[in-house]
Amino acid sequence: MRARTDLARLAEAEYDVAIIGGGIIGTGVARDAAMRGLRTVLFEKEDFCYGTSGRSSRMIHGGLRYLANYDLGLVREGLREREILLRLAPHLVRPLKFLIPIYGESFLHKMKLKIGMILYDLLSYDKSLPSHKYLDRESARSATRAGGERPERRLRLL
Ligand SMILES: Cc1cc2nc3c(=O)[nH]c(=O)nc-3n(C[C@H](O)[C@H](O)[C@H](O)COP(=O)(O)OP(=O)(O)OC[C@H]3O[C@@H](n4cnc5c(N)ncnc54)[C@H](O)[C@@H]3O)c2cc1C
Repeated sequence: MRARTDLARLAEAEYDVAIIGGGIIGTGVARDAAMRGLRTVLFEKEDFCYGTSGRSSRMIHGGLRYLANYDLGLVREGLREREILLRLAPHLVRPLKFLIPIYGESFLHKMKLKIGMILYDLLSYDKSLPSHKYLDRESARSATRAGGERPERRLRLL
């Protein structure tokens, strides 16, 4: 992909696809189109990832939060896309463990979380990453201390 700022020269050529906006969506679509052999042009008015994409926390999340809205289709889509990115860009996408503390919640809320996580694992039946695990207090403590590493290097706490 070549970056050009010469609009006059761009106007002389013919393209199959013109994309406005060089955020993650626009660049992703441009990459896909170019890989399919389409003559592709991408217009960005500022700089690549100038907008929201430059402010993202860079998580390739698997749509866990959409479970709360019972949007199972979107969860499945997020999980599928995560697998694709793990396969396409293993040099950029690395698994990151999350430890989510649960305390002071009602029995009902805990059950809801358990069922939700089981459902999440079912929806990601073809994933390459491990399924969720429940840790008791002691295991959670030792998991964050294990190996003498600083906990935040191994696990990100929510
Ligand atoms: C704080 C924060 C954290 C986030 N963290 C995550 C995360 O961890 N994981 C995740 O999946 N999502 C995350 N998101 C959401 C994610 O960042 C957005 O969904 C995504 O960046 C949107 O990308 P986009 O390409 O649609 O838009 P943008 O990145 O905003 O790109 C639009 C581009 O279009 C350009 N443009 C606009 N108008 C024109 C025009 N007329 N001509 C030419 N160019 C134009 C803009 O300059 C811009 O570069 C986060 C969002 C925020 C705010």
